[in-house]
Amino acid sequence: MAGETLDEFLDAARAANEQGFAVAAGILGEGVTSAQEAEEATDRYCEVLRIFRERGLDANVAFKATHVGLDVDPDLAYGNARRIAQTAAETQNTMRLDMEQSSYVDRTLHLYRRLRSEFDNVGCVLQSYLYRSRVDLRALLELRPNIRIVKGAYLEPPDVAFAKKHDVDEQYVRLACEALDNGCYTAIATHDPAIVAKMCSFAEQKGIPKRGRFEFQMLYGIAAPAARELVDAGYRVRLAIPFGENWFPYLMRRLAERPANVAFVLKGMLQR
Ligand SMILES: Cc1cc2nc3c(=O)[nH]c(=O)nc-3n(C[C@H](O)[C@H](O)[C@H](O)COP(=O)(O)OP(=O)(O)OC[C@H]3O[C@@H](n4cnc5c(N)ncnc54)[C@H](O)[C@@H]3O)c2cc1C
Repeated sequence: MAGETLDEFLDAARAANEQGFAVAAGILGEGVTSAQEAEEATDRYCEVLRIFRERGLDANVAFKATHVGLDVDPDLAYGNARRIAQTAAETQNTMRLDMEQSSYVDRTLHLYRRLRSEFDNVGCVLQSYLYRSRVDLRALLELRPNIRIVKGAYLEPPDVAFAKKHDVDEQYVRLACEALDNGCYTAIATHDPAIVAKMCSFAEQKGIPKRGRFEFQMLYGIAAPAARELVDAGYRVRLAIPFGENWFPYLMRRLAERPANVAFVLKGMLQR
């Protein structure tokens, strides 16, 4: 995390831009239970997009459908997400709907389709640990989606998701190659060096240029040397930088991905 405040985030975003990275801002928050909270989150995303424009930052926004009200009312979430897409369009920017637990996939993709029917500047996410994602990708292709492929960050049961890393990784590469091959702007969001290497080779084999058709995405503060190497080699790399006060669920997901982080977090807390 860059910090809790907008100023801390903006400093980190500016520094990342100066080092050659694009940025995706994520305001921490999800699963809001009132229309008021959802609207406040929407206001913040719109404010952040306007600030990006004013300050000339190379940064866009990504947010969770439940942060803008999906659990309260799908039409409320649509109205809010639409307001963010509209503000992104007005500020010559883009926005992306993150993907949450498997129980939200249908509703999130439905929301994405509604937005996509009106806007070109909206993206979505598919998770390679879900069996269904290949079918979802094929169904989305006609929309020429701007798509981020991730492995998936939630604990899912074996009837919906691959349990073995090998299967998740294999499906990741299949999805990312298929998206790229079908002309989708593809965000390859992973810190996995083997997958990064495979995707670089795939793009090269297919004559896909290093910029313009795809980008790598990584989480701020993770795999920093690998991200640097990619930028130095000429690839576009976007760092996802979360900020805000509601950091607990975010921290829990990052700990679940890599238990060694528990020691890291504890050490940080003791040093304060
Ligand atoms: C930009 C971005 C956006 C994302 N958006 C979503 C989303 O919308 N929905 C969703 O479900 N998931 C999302 N994720 C999370 C994703 O699903 C994975 O949980 C996460 O990226 C870890 O998987 P990996 O691809 O890096 O591969 P892994 O095989 O998990 O990790 C590969 C290597 O990366 C390093 N690494 C990975 N995670 C960590 C960590 N937390 N701390 C330290 N080192 C680590 C380790 O060295 C590890 O060996 C996103 C990830 C990124 C980078």
